[in-house]
Amino acid sequence: MAERPFYVTTPIYYVSSVPHVGHAYTSIAADALARFHRTRGPTYFLTGTDEHGQKVAQAAAAAGMTPQTWTDQLVEQWKGLCRRYNVEYDDFIRTTEPRHSDAVVLFFERLKERGDVYLGKYEGWYCTNDETFWLEAKLVDGRCPNPECRREVQWLSEDNWFFALSKYRDRLLEYYRANPQWVRPERSYNEMVATLEGGLEDLCISRVNLEWGVPLPGGGVMYVWLDALLNYITALGWATGDEKFATFWPARVQLIGKEIARFHTIIWPAMLWALDLPAPETVFAHGWITIDGEKMSKSKGNVIEPFAAAERFGADSVRYFLMREAPFGTDFSISLEKIRKRHNTDLGNDLGNLARRSLAMLERYRGGIVPAYSGTSEIASRFADLPARVAARFEALDLRGALEDTWELIAALNRAIDDRRPWELAKRGEDAALDAILYDLCEGLRWCAHLLAPFMPVKAAEMYATLGTGDELGGDWRTDLVWGKLAAGTRARPAEAGLFPRIEDEPPAPAA
Ligand SMILES: [Zn+2]
Repeated sequence: MAERPFYVTTPIYYVSSVPHVGHAYTSIAADALARFHRTRGPTYFLTGTDEHGQKVAQAAAAAGMTPQTWTDQLVEQWKGLCRRYNVEYDDFIRTTEPRHSDAVVLFFERLKERGDVYLGKYEGWYCTNDETFWLEAKLVDGRCPNPECRREVQWLSEDNWFFALSKYRDRLLEYYRANPQWVRPERSYNEMVATLEGGLEDLCISRVNLEWGVPLPGGGVMYVWLDALLNYITALGWATGDEKFATFWPARVQLIGKEIARFHTIIWPAMLWALDLPAPETVFAHGWITIDGEKMSKSKGNVIEPFAAAERFGADSVRYFLMREAPFGTDFSISLEKIRKRHNTDLGNDLGNLARRSLAMLERYRGGIVPAYSGTSEIASRFADLPARVAARFEALDLRGALEDTWELIAALNRAIDDRRPWELAKRGEDAALDAILYDLCEGLRWCAHLLAPFMPVKAAEMYATLGTGDELGGDWRTDLVWGKLAAGTRARPAEAGLFPRIEDEPPAPAA
């Protein structure tokens, strides 16, 4: 049976400030998933920017700009981040686009028709930093209860629209119990079940005294979170009956940070059900990147700047590091030194040296011409199931596992050089044995290029090009990764420079 088309989303990024490496992390993970799934069938990858809300309006005002000018200018940085890291999205949605805001109004009309919204008075608190309504009882020492925020909150007493969220509580709980995999990892799933068991209140969904948002009929603007969540369907053309929507909804995977799980796994499915639409298949809440155990944040001044990191290490090395360093889903600590070490060891020593040594020997002993495959190879039998194993890791969102499995092949190929010593085979004139190891190395490199392309698209393509097969990466592993497919007589070319030149420690800053 054909697989259902793959639709993956990142959260849309809030443009109150510039991107840090944590934003790149989510986009790179989504990109790796999309690149893998494109080898198998129809795939759609959406990202974008969340441009409304009080915080954006305030940031723009502080910069002396209109919110639209402010967001127009910042969105370029967010798109630039994708370009810098070769994040190849199919669509980038901005919530200020009419295709989105028109659909938000339609959503609101639908809720009204169903009787899922009503007018009421919101009396309570609001945290502008988190764009979240907080009831008095939830505050901690009179401040925002989010442990990462704890800012002052603002008293609101407004006539606003409410979404009848509480009526979806039982259905949500049933859905959670029937689909234990729908929110992952388990930590987030358990937190959300506990939240639901604690009861659910109706949600205030408009801001009558704000101007920077999607205007609602009768006044006020849509609460920025509901506005933002709708992007996942407005971009597919839900409101206009686009075929893309029919093809790709419900999303197979929605990636989020764990701090926004409540919005995506309680409010969002209820909104969809209010429209008689299915909830996404999986919402995956990844962990936080920390610096020395602390969450990265601009106010703490411990931000790793993603453009500078790509400049120093290369985009693919940073991509590799972020996907390899920790199991996808957990919190993990990073530093420039950790990136440098993985670049030099995993990429430079393991992979880069393998490619360099293999092609240099092929050039020296066979004039760069790939010999014929004998039909049997110990490495081929040992790794025959590797493409299927790596594919299963992608399906399970175990991105680190996909890399670890691939590294087993890299290690085996490096060991084969040391054990089988091609230079001695050449000296002794053992041509069949020499052909066999040279073929294993070239075919192994071809496999590595395929398996690593979702993670390191540029380096994998460079590596693949040196093999001289003349075609491009991106084919289906199930047909392309058959040992022996690399044709005899292919003219490979040794790489002129190493794939991953060694990066030395930063020189100490000169004395002032
Ligand atoms: Zn807050």
